[in-house]
Amino acid sequence: MGLNDAARRLCGAPVFEQGCAVKKAFVKSYGCQMNVYDAERMTDILAEQGYAETTQADEADLVILNTCHIREKAAEKVYSELGRVKATKKERALAGRDTTVVVAGCVAQAEGREILRRAPVVDVVVGPQSYHRLPELLAKARRERVVDTDFPVDDKFERLPAPSGARIRGRGVAAFLTIQEGCDKFCTFCVVPYTRGAETSRPVAKIAEEARRLAEAGIREITLIGQNVNAYHGEGPDGAGWTLGRLLRHLAEIPGIARLRYTTSHPRDMDEELIAAHRDLPALMPYLHLPVQAGADRILDAMNRRHTGDAYRRIVERVRAARPDIALSSDFIVGFPGETDADFDCTLRLVRDVGFASAFSFKYSPRPGTPAAEMDGQVPEAVKAERLARLQELLEAQRQAFNRGTVGRTLDVLLEKPGRHPGQVAGKSPYLQPVQLEGEHRIGEIVAVRIVRAGANSLFGESAGAAALDAA
Ligand code: SAM
Ligand code: SF4
Repeated sequence: MGLNDAARRLCGAPVFEQGCAVKKAFVKSYGCQMNVYDAERMTDILAEQGYAETTQADEADLVILNTCHIREKAAEKVYSELGRVKATKKERALAGRDTTVVVAGCVAQAEGREILRRAPVVDVVVGPQSYHRLPELLAKARRERVVDTDFPVDDKFERLPAPSGARIRGRGVAAFLTIQEGCDKFCTFCVVPYTRGAETSRPVAKIAEEARRLAEAGIREITLIGQNVNAYHGEGPDGAGWTLGRLLRHLAEIPGIARLRYTTSHPRDMDEELIAAHRDLPALMPYLHLPVQAGADRILDAMNRRHTGDAYRRIVERVRAARPDIALSSDFIVGFPGETDADFDCTLRLVRDVGFASAFSFKYSPRPGTPAAEMDGQVPEAVKAERLARLQELLEAQRQAFNRGTVGRTLDVLLEKPGRHPGQVAGKSPYLQPVQLEGEHRIGEIVAVRIVRAGANSLFGESAGAAALDAA
């Protein structure tokens, strides 16, 4: 039975109506898109168990923190949030109400039982590969505190319930779809291979089935996600291993799916088939997030990235030859162990050479258990902070310049939600820029918008007629 049915049967009122006697779950997600996807799947599982979602932790019978372990700050945030949860649980207990607290995600995977020791408020610790077992774990948690951080042999995706069309559409007109999990690259700074496990790809048929279901529910844009998404090598209907390029061609045929994206890619896996997909598929948006991390070859080598700065530049040239207007985005780490001023200058030079439309940049954060955490030459915090500020200034200037470059152009905008002010709608350009548009429009429509102004974070535009395809 779905959540709506369960809730209506119980109180005859819409599920989110106050006062309804349905159990409530509060799910807070940290970190990457993979976690957003996992959090949605968890709420689908909970809906089957009769839980309604709430955005208020204090009215929740079940609190789930879906955590991220990528940087130290991300993990510490979880422990401070657990402090707040503890206070809420105590207040609710005084009012005679039980609260079950679950820590899921990569901190759960990495720290396991240690979480139970550090945070007595926690009832269940569940890793990203075993959250499909939530119903069993919650039942068990009535008797004892539980930890499940296995990498189980049963297929998580097979066990996840298919959400109803209404639930899918209730989340918007753009959706994430996990096609690949885990990573075998072992960059020396990164915890992902330890928390998410070995690289695995879902079969093409399963992905296509999920994509069709999303399209039928009214989803217009699908972002295929994976820790290393372009290492995808899932089994095709012909029994062969398909690449991401081939998968994208297949998904582009599904009626209703107007836009496809994918993230996050590794430069080593940008093969010809994927680059050709950017040339050939109008549905594949001209935006590529391709993390480079650093510009100096000796740092890239110490990071075990297995590419040089020039190899990255050449990949960008090939992608731009195939799709000249493509907007590039990247991830950067400053202050990796041993990084000198000269090495950092190589990063700045690479940024100037390539030109990015957007980017994420971080101070190197030593992660216990990773090789880089043990390396000599750890860079002082103040140096990291100064380098990060300089890098971000340059990246921000490039972002603003890219946005200003779209003023005067007509871009197709997928309308996603009501805008900031009454009478406005907000959507996304092909280059993933937020766009605000005046006037009456239907959410889910793709409209041609003439960009008239670039603000600090959004573009502003006016309708330019029914349709246009001016992404070039
Ligand atoms: N698979 C992607 C790739 O190959 O670049 C990245 C996935 S990782 C979840 C997202 C980003 O977090 C990385 O690209 C990196 O910039 C950053 N990151 C990972 N570990 C880090 C660390 N120890 N310190 C700082 N940033 C880190
Ligand atoms: Fe982490 Fe990405 Fe490197 Fe894999 S490829 S280890 S996910 S940074």
